[in-house]
Amino acid sequence: METYWYKTELEEIVEFLKSPQRFTEIGAKIPKGVLLVGPPGTGKTLMAKAVAGEAGVPFFSISGSEFVELFVGTGAARVRDLFEQAKKKAPCIIFIDELDAIGKSRAGGNGFVGGNDEREQTLNQLLTEMDGFGAGDATVTVLAATNRPETLDPALLRPGRFDRQVLVDRPDLTGRLAILEIYAKKVKLGDNVDLKAIATRTPGFAGADLANLVNEAALLAARRDSKVVETQDFAEAIERVVAGLEKKSRVLNEKEKKIVAYHEVGHALVGAKMSGTDQVEKISIVPRGMAALGYTLQVPTEDRFLLNEDELKGQIATLLGGRAAEEVIFGSITTGASNDLQRATDLAEQMVTSYDMSEVLGPLAYDKGQQNNFLGGGMNARRAVSDETAKEIDKEVKGIVETAHQEALSILKENKELLETISEQLLEKEVIEGNGLREMLAKVHPELEGQTEQHVQETEEPLAV
Ligand code: ZN
Repeated sequence: METYWYKTELEEIVEFLKSPQRFTEIGAKIPKGVLLVGPPGTGKTLMAKAVAGEAGVPFFSISGSEFVELFVGTGAARVRDLFEQAKKKAPCIIFIDELDAIGKSRAGGNGFVGGNDEREQTLNQLLTEMDGFGAGDATVTVLAATNRPETLDPALLRPGRFDRQVLVDRPDLTGRLAILEIYAKKVKLGDNVDLKAIATRTPGFAGADLANLVNEAALLAARRDSKVVETQDFAEAIERVVAGLEKKSRVLNEKEKKIVAYHEVGHALVGAKMSGTDQVEKISIVPRGMAALGYTLQVPTEDRFLLNEDELKGQIATLLGGRAAEEVIFGSITTGASNDLQRATDLAEQMVTSYDMSEVLGPLAYDKGQQNNFLGGGMNARRAVSDETAKEIDKEVKGIVETAHQEALSILKENKELLETISEQLLEKEVIEGNGLREMLAKVHPELEGQTEQHVQETEEPLAV
C-alpha cells in the first residue's frame, strides 16, 4: 500500500466507510462528496483507490470525459445506473475522474455553444443522485478529481454535495523519496544508487513521473546489458522525463537551431550571473518531446520553498534570459519565449500578491491563499480588491518583470562575446555539460575568478514605462 498518498483528510473518510454506525448513531451526517483537487499526474486516482482499499469497500469509477462520448440522452442514464449499482454494494466509493468534463459552470461561458443540453442533463442527474441518498441509506462516498476547480458549477460545491476539498499537490523532497523507495523496490538497484540524491534532482515530479523515471532507468540499464540499475541510468532517465523522450527525428532548420541555441545560452548566462538560481548543469539543443526544442537543465541543491526577494528576482531574470538573448542577437523574439514569459509573470504576481514583497501594498496577502497557486499556469484568484489596488498590483508586477528583463538584457549585452562563444560551441556539439560548461559560465564573474559562491549587487534601474 502506497501509504505516502494517504492524507489525514482521507483517513477520516476511511473511518466513515469502515464503521458508519459510529457516526450516524450519534446523529452525525457523513459527508457525501469529497473533491480531490490538484494538477494532473499527482496520483488522485491512486489516492481514491487507496481509500477504498484501506476501508475494504468496493470501488466504482468513471471518468467525466467518457460521458462526452456517449450517445445523446445516455449520460444521465449512466449516472443513474452507476449510483444504483453502488447503493446495492454500500458502503462503497464512487470515483469520478475529470469531474470538470461534466461539471463545468453553466454560467461561466466556457466557450461551449450548443451541445450543452447533454452535459447539463448529466450534471443534473449527478446532483439529484447526490441529494437523493441520505440519512437512511448505507454510506456511498463520492470522490471526484479535478485540476480545474475554478471552472466547476457552484451547484456541485454546495453543502451536502462536494463540500469537502482535499488538495493533492506534487510531492515535496520527503514525499518524492518515499515514492522512489516504493518503486525502486520493483527493480534491481545498484549498491551505490542514492535515492535521496535522485529525489533532490526531481523537484516538480509527480508520483506518476517518478514511477516512469524508475522504469526508464531500468530500461536503460537493461539496454546496456547491466544486471542492476545504476546512477548513470537514473541520470539519463531524469533528462528523458524532464523534457520528454528524445526525438532525434525532429530536425530543426539551421536558423531555428541557431535561435534555440542562443535562447538556451541566454537562460544559462543570466542564471549563472544572478543569485538564487540553481546551478546550470547542462544545455542541450537536441529536440526532445513536443514542447521543448532545447532546454537548460538547472540542478537545485535542495528543495527550496523559501526564496528571498533577490533570489526570486534572479529566477525571473533567468526565465527572461532566453528571450533577452534573442533580442540582443536577432533583434526580435520568437514564440518559443512565451512560456518563459508566462512563468516569469506568474512568479512576479506571486511576489506581489502572496509573498508580501510589495513595496506599494505592504504586508497583506492579496491572493486568496491556496486555491490556485499550485495548479501551474492558472491565474491567481485575487481577494476582491478595489480597482485602484488592482491597478497598483498590475503596475508593480509589470515593474518587476520589466526590471528583470532589463537586467537580463544588460547581463547579456555585457557578456555578448561569451554568449556568442558558448552558443557557437553549443551549435556544434548540441550538448554542453559538466565542468566544461561550468568553467565557461564562470566567466560572467570575472571578479570572482573561479569561486563558485556568488554575491551579486542589485543595481537599481529606473523603470522604463
Ligand atoms: Zn526559454
